[in-house]
Amino acid sequence: MVKPALSILIADDDDGDRKQIRRALKQAGFDVVVTEASDGAEAIAACEGEEFDCAFVDYLMPGQTGLDSVARLHALRPHMPIVMVTGEGDEMIASEAIKRGAVDYVAKRMMTGESIARIVAGALERASLMRKVAQAREELESFARVLVHDLRAPLRTIKSFAGLVDESIKAGDIDTIQEDWSRVVGAAERMDHLIQSLHLYTQADAEAATERVAMTDVAEDTRSNLDFVIRERGAQLRADPLPVVAGDRALLTQLLQNLIANGIKYCEAPTPEVHVGADRAESLWRLTVTDNGIGIPEEHRKVIFLPFKRLHAKGEFAGTGLGLATCRRIVERHGGEIWCDAADPGGSAFRFTLPAWTDT
Ligand code: ADP
Repeated sequence: MVKPALSILIADDDDGDRKQIRRALKQAGFDVVVTEASDGAEAIAACEGEEFDCAFVDYLMPGQTGLDSVARLHALRPHMPIVMVTGEGDEMIASEAIKRGAVDYVAKRMMTGESIARIVAGALERASLMRKVAQAREELESFARVLVHDLRAPLRTIKSFAGLVDESIKAGDIDTIQEDWSRVVGAAERMDHLIQSLHLYTQADAEAATERVAMTDVAEDTRSNLDFVIRERGAQLRADPLPVVAGDRALLTQLLQNLIANGIKYCEAPTPEVHVGADRAESLWRLTVTDNGIGIPEEHRKVIFLPFKRLHAKGEFAGTGLGLATCRRIVERHGGEIWCDAADPGGSAFRFTLPAWTDT
């Protein structure tokens, strides 16, 4: 079987050695587009313009040593797998190369189609894993940054209004205390809400149960959980007969609750109307939560599922920005997808898929 085309860099000053690597790649069955460099500087110049799927770097090259080249190429392209090509019995060099960023090494004499196939496959797998780890780390860093910011905001409010209350007490000016104190309590409540949302968000990532869940029961649980908000806003919540799915009841209740609560919250009509419906999409059920709210511009319909992404200021609509991110995690835990469309004649339609329950 011919494998997909790979872009390969071969950095070696010896024409014969470069040919040998090409031949081994061909024997391994790879369809390759090869770029050749005859010294470290040329290899670096090539990598400035392109990230290769894999680079073979000879240990002995004119100008700088292969080890320096490995370090510089790794700094330039941290996710590009680099394989050090060494002479016979150069284990020390090989281990040094790995310390500087190479993923593997191969002795020239050992270069066969078989060994190259193994090395390249391993290098590609590692590179893809490293990319995933780097992406997860970036996501975690940005998550932590926003979290710290959002947790500090109510704390700052608490600190400054508590200071004002303190001053008023000292000055015996009790008239202003009540208002300042209510700001302290409000900020503490926001912080509590954020911590609770955060807890639900992290829970959504835990292993989900796969049990028989009647979504009609879930909708009823949701209705009673949201009873206060529904009454307060005079909202109408209608649900069609809903299907039986395979999933985790507690998480699915959380999911439906977040979507329905948002449908009621992000609505300026005198009577918020939220409808839950379902239709079959092959082995999945697709559920839709439609509202008559303010709607979401098309360009924002993807980003709203990112943690802490909010389209409104806190003063306009209260929230933490974790609700839809939690929904996405829950749906993905169940192997489904979630997205948002515009509703007709106005408002939003949140759709998600869940696996149908099958009695076996
Ligand atoms: P929160 O409601 O806590 O801000 P969410 O993650 O639930 O966080 O929602 C993210 C953003 O998406 C909200 O701030 C809001 O701007 C928008 N949004 C969510 N649901 C709706 C909806 N049903 N109608 C309009 N806008 C919505």
